[in-house]
Amino acid sequence: MKTEVRILFRSDRIPEGPRALLDTVRCGSDVAELEEGAIFTIVTLDERDERLPRLLHLLTERGASWLERRYDCFTDEELESSRLLIMSYDFDATVFGGPRVGTTYDMSDACKRCGAGARQTSAMILEGEDLHKLEGRRAAATPYDDMLVDEKLANVLAESGATGISFRGVFAAFEKRGHIQLAWRQICATHTMPRMSPRSTGIFPYKPCPCGRSSFTREAEIPLRLAYRAADIADICDVNVTWEWFGEVNFNGDVNDSVLAAPYFLVTPKVWRIFQGAGVTGFDWIPIRVVDE
Ligand SMILES: [Zn+2]
Repeated sequence: MKTEVRILFRSDRIPEGPRALLDTVRCGSDVAELEEGAIFTIVTLDERDERLPRLLHLLTERGASWLERRYDCFTDEELESSRLLIMSYDFDATVFGGPRVGTTYDMSDACKRCGAGARQTSAMILEGEDLHKLEGRRAAATPYDDMLVDEKLANVLAESGATGISFRGVFAAFEKRGHIQLAWRQICATHTMPRMSPRSTGIFPYKPCPCGRSSFTREAEIPLRLAYRAADIADICDVNVTWEWFGEVNFNGDVNDSVLAAPYFLVTPKVWRIFQGAGVTGFDWIPIRVVDE
């Protein structure tokens, strides 16, 4: 595993110009995205790279601020030997669907304040205008981490004997034409993990709800590392969701008009291998950590 740091700064805040600054710290096109006339310059370095502190020192000297994101990168061997992987889809590529498009939920066991624990009771309804985002893909996700696969991939998953998995239909909602069924399936998890270990990093409850279950969000500067105690992963399935719910919450009691948080989707390397075999792209796979406490 290595941890990468992505530094983003405004090109026009550098008196001598970004190229001259990057030359000073010997950051070439292998680590820097620097397009003529672009507003931002982006540099990606290993966190142990000696050029990183030098670059940040120069930016500080010039009074230029920057945004920083840290994330872990894994080899296939590391993914293969992990217990569970967080399955995370490129947010910009997500297909809008869920509560505000007509998908229905049973709220009887959900938190009355934040809606965490909402249980889906219908097929997954997607926004018709977003369908082009599925073109050329075999798997995708909604902003709520609802995982979607084409029918063929759904069949492979069903026949694989993967545990804890169930499937729902997927429909597109059009204002004039109503609902149209798609040749896609939603993968659903039947197993919810216990609470994660407090040794997890890269997340924090930014608008804590008294239920303690939402709404966690990511901390860009700290790599996302979910930790579970060994006893907590004794009963895992191949497909699971976290007990904690992540993301923005704006729940007003009416699920059709609410923004809900959602759990993370955790799968075993068995499921990862099936996605790899299908040539699926667009997902990040991040192993959980197993801790004593
Ligand atoms: Zn709550």
